[in-house]
Amino acid sequence: MTDTYLELVNTGAPAKLAKKLGLPKPVRLRRTDPASVDTPLTTGPVLVLSDAASTTEADAVAGDLLGWDLDVRRDTRLGEHDRWGAVIVVLTGLGHPNDLSEPALALGSVLRRLAKGARVVTISRTVDRAEPAVAAARNGVDGFLRSVAKELRAGATGNGLVLADGVGVSAPSVRGGLRYLLSARSAFVDGQLITVGTDGGSEPADWSRPLVGSVAVVTGAARGIGAEVARVMARDGARVVGVDVPAAGESLSAVMNDVGGTALQLDVTRDDAAQRILDVVRARYGHLDIVVHNAGILRDKLLANMTPDKFEGLLAVNIAAPLRMNETFAAPGALGGDGAAPRIVSLASTSGIAGNRGQTNYATAKAGIIGMTRALAGQVADAGGTANAVAPGFIETDMTASIPPVPRQIARWGSSLQQGGHPVDVAEAIAFLASPQAGGINGQTLRVCGQMMVGQ
Ligand code: NAD
Repeated sequence: MTDTYLELVNTGAPAKLAKKLGLPKPVRLRRTDPASVDTPLTTGPVLVLSDAASTTEADAVAGDLLGWDLDVRRDTRLGEHDRWGAVIVVLTGLGHPNDLSEPALALGSVLRRLAKGARVVTISRTVDRAEPAVAAARNGVDGFLRSVAKELRAGATGNGLVLADGVGVSAPSVRGGLRYLLSARSAFVDGQLITVGTDGGSEPADWSRPLVGSVAVVTGAARGIGAEVARVMARDGARVVGVDVPAAGESLSAVMNDVGGTALQLDVTRDDAAQRILDVVRARYGHLDIVVHNAGILRDKLLANMTPDKFEGLLAVNIAAPLRMNETFAAPGALGGDGAAPRIVSLASTSGIAGNRGQTNYATAKAGIIGMTRALAGQVADAGGTANAVAPGFIETDMTASIPPVPRQIARWGSSLQQGGHPVDVAEAIAFLASPQAGGINGQTLRVCGQMMVGQ
């Protein structure tokens, strides 16, 4: 599952030829080093810009960053050989779209001095209930940020945090979200805006092991994205129970041995699947805190050729099973214990946002996951819980390796980062949403797609 083009285009002669032909030049993304997860957080100094009315909040953000030992600057001067590791643009005080001009142009003036894999992060406010000029300015950030992200090169990404009114810039999920977006954990998240709806959540004692004390179940953990979720969550300190069908029992055991977890052979479409999981996890660990609905199948067919078993069979695994299991998991008291808050994270897909030819069944189920997640958010919030989804784009797995070479390459180039993501990129997003510092983020779908040029 390697991108041969990416490897070639980063070596001598092929690189020159690709440049001559005007072909894309994807770079190897900065990903977490398993040995030292968050070091360094950024690869150079961090510039904090703001609109004229947000200087106090920008000062607070700069103070927080200093607390993480970053080299923080408030003006655009930079040493001759230095490059910015990140630029944070605080836009919480916008009153009119015109207010965006000054910070936008300041950002523009430093874009040529970004380091490889740099980060641009906006911090703005939600449009809800704002009067028209304020709403225009706030929503303007959306278009601005997504366009900036499309102009960035060399593995740099642009993302935003959007704060509900009343949520301060130092709220746990603003700091947690900022840290996630600055770090290599978010390598394949690009052009996305994450809403922080409340000041809920809490900061972990150790940022590099935020899931210590939590028990997580991951369905479909025998291979692909699910196996990587198990590995990343274990790395972050969680105890992991992996679920997969009996036919995948051997590889499930191998993954669970790898992470010191527990293998549970179980088909998630069984009526009693959730209760079985709860019984096994409680007997072994005392409590269950995190559920990751990852198990999924593909049954691609044009609708004109679709059969009932392909349509209904897919819905049974990809949406009916998570829905049924959540009747148990979202019930009061089912999840959480020993200080950990309930977290449910489900796998959606960019196909569920933009639609995809040959995937009416899959897109129905994945859009269903997005709807389910929104509805579930309210149900679990009372217990301090959250329900979120992750929508991967093109990820290098066994599944996408079966796509013929030309469409596969086109799919890779269809994102701003001009490459496919790795399972670990999706796993990092899921681990973040499952963490205590993401407690103010609820009901959302985070795309992990390198800003794929489909859908929103
Ligand atoms: P995969 O096929 O490699 O792994 C899926 C796992 O789920 C397998 O181990 C399988 O045995 C298990 N599974 C299937 N049906 C099950 C059932 N009834 N009960 C228990 N386990 C079951 O797939 P992947 O590429 O790792 O995808 C994982 C998730 O991410 C899926 O929900 C998929 O739809 C989603 N996704 C993947 C991509 C991608 O590019 N790979 C893109 C978007 C979304």
